[in-house]
Amino acid sequence: MRYLSSLYEKQIKEFLKEDALIIGEMVEDYGENEYQKVFKDLKTRFNIISLNGKVIYDSQKYQERLENHGERNEIKELKNKKEFFIIRESSTLNTLMAYYSKIDKNKSGQDIIIRVSQNYGEYNRELQNILYFEVIFFMALNFMIHFFYKNYLKRDMYRKLTRIKTFLESGQDKKEVYLGDDQWILQFWRVVKEWQEENIKNIERLAREKEVLEKIIDGVESAIILLDENFKFTVRNNNLLYLFEKSKYNCIQGIKYIEIIEVIKKAQNNQNDYREEIYIQDLKKYFLISIKKLNYNREYLVTIKDITISRESAEIQRKFISNISHELKTPLTNIKGYLIALKDAPESLRNNFLNTVERNIEKMENIILDFLNMTKAESLKILNIGPIGIEKLEKQLREEVDGIVNKKNGKLEFNFEILSKDNYIKIDYEKILMVLKNLIENGFIYNSSKIPEVIVNLYEMKNTYKFIIKDNGLGIEKNKIDKIFERFYRIDKARTSNVAGTGLGLSIVKEIIDNYKGEIKIVSRENKGTIFTITIPK
Ligand code: ADP
Repeated sequence: MRYLSSLYEKQIKEFLKEDALIIGEMVEDYGENEYQKVFKDLKTRFNIISLNGKVIYDSQKYQERLENHGERNEIKELKNKKEFFIIRESSTLNTLMAYYSKIDKNKSGQDIIIRVSQNYGEYNRELQNILYFEVIFFMALNFMIHFFYKNYLKRDMYRKLTRIKTFLESGQDKKEVYLGDDQWILQFWRVVKEWQEENIKNIERLAREKEVLEKIIDGVESAIILLDENFKFTVRNNNLLYLFEKSKYNCIQGIKYIEIIEVIKKAQNNQNDYREEIYIQDLKKYFLISIKKLNYNREYLVTIKDITISRESAEIQRKFISNISHELKTPLTNIKGYLIALKDAPESLRNNFLNTVERNIEKMENIILDFLNMTKAESLKILNIGPIGIEKLEKQLREEVDGIVNKKNGKLEFNFEILSKDNYIKIDYEKILMVLKNLIENGFIYNSSKIPEVIVNLYEMKNTYKFIIKDNGLGIEKNKIDKIFERFYRIDKARTSNVAGTGLGLSIVKEIIDNYKGEIKIVSRENKGTIFTITIPK
């Protein structure tokens, strides 16, 4: 407002100055007596005043009434200046007036003052009115334009959207012949469709890649977790789920065992990648945890592998070797003792001593043989299945157990009921031979019947072969049945004459059948006999 009023002031001053200039020109040309005539038609309000303040001419025609103007500011100030402008209250009109005064020369060359004035309040009001009117006018115009466009655009948008909707709902054929003026919809639709097809392809490709990746990480037998910098799971595969708390995705709450969390914490404080083997008491299992730092230590790739089996099998291997050495040591000590004694032994005992030495050597031989069979069964885990004639199997078995059958004066019988007419069965010959040989031998060895007898039955079923090996031997006590498959386990040595046994035979049998994913069942009655039923898949 202040800026505006200074603008008015400037403008009004310019108007008054222009008027004063015109009046000045006329005063120079005309004498005082001609003023009345000359200024008759001039609308401007002005006075011509002598330097001492006397009003010579007043455009309002009441100079006779006007007092001396010498004390008015606009006259007084002219003593030092050529022109003066002021806005003040008029004492005659009691209203705010703008005065412009300047010194000029009259016709006779004397200095006179020309004072032009205008009602400032009125002028100001007029200007203000114009301004208010303009502001209101433009605001209304603006509002109308805005309102019109808003409605127009809204309606236009709605119309277009409805068209798009009907277009999308129409079938493919209709779309292709869409109205001429709506060609843009068709174009738009084609672009969207292309873009959508591209997107679908990308999504499908990503989904496939994700699936492959998930399968790969699930295929790894370890648990794999990707932790972000806040130790939240970003990725986790579905292995070793028993280590994790369901639906908790923070490392601290999500992992059940403090032992694992501690390793992760250690890795966090470690500069490099970190590995540690741990034992979880609650699970009685060993784990290998490896932690790799990714993306400048912001993410951690944690793999947890259950290494219990390899740890245990290493332990079993160690025990096995120590057992073998122990088993070999006894006959070896015997042999050594008897050989020393033999040097000074009387003739009558020599034969006896030599027999004992021979028996112990036989025992050592058996241990080594079984040990070799055992390692063979363990190392040849992959089955070598092929067709084999049942006559060949029977012949081979009879040859291998011939010694014990004769020694015991026993009877060995085979009974094969197979589906194929050409008398072939499909088995891992070498391994099944080892199983049957062991079971048949045991049937005669642990047998004190008058006529020891072993019957081997084979039934071919739809998906399996069933071998039933039945003897009329000593039988096995119920509470020992589970133990006989343990390595080096032998039932009370005194009950049999077989001092050469190693306690490894049945554990070899079990190892082979386990590998075959088959099963062994035992039914036994003391002093009546034992039935081993072995089922293997085809
Ligand atoms: P080994 O015959 O060398 O002692 P095995 O592992 O073959 O070792 O057998 C373990 C034990 O199981 C034997 O010591 C024996 O007491 C018992 N056993 C095995 N087969 C029979 C059987 N058919 N009848 C009675 N006892 C048996």
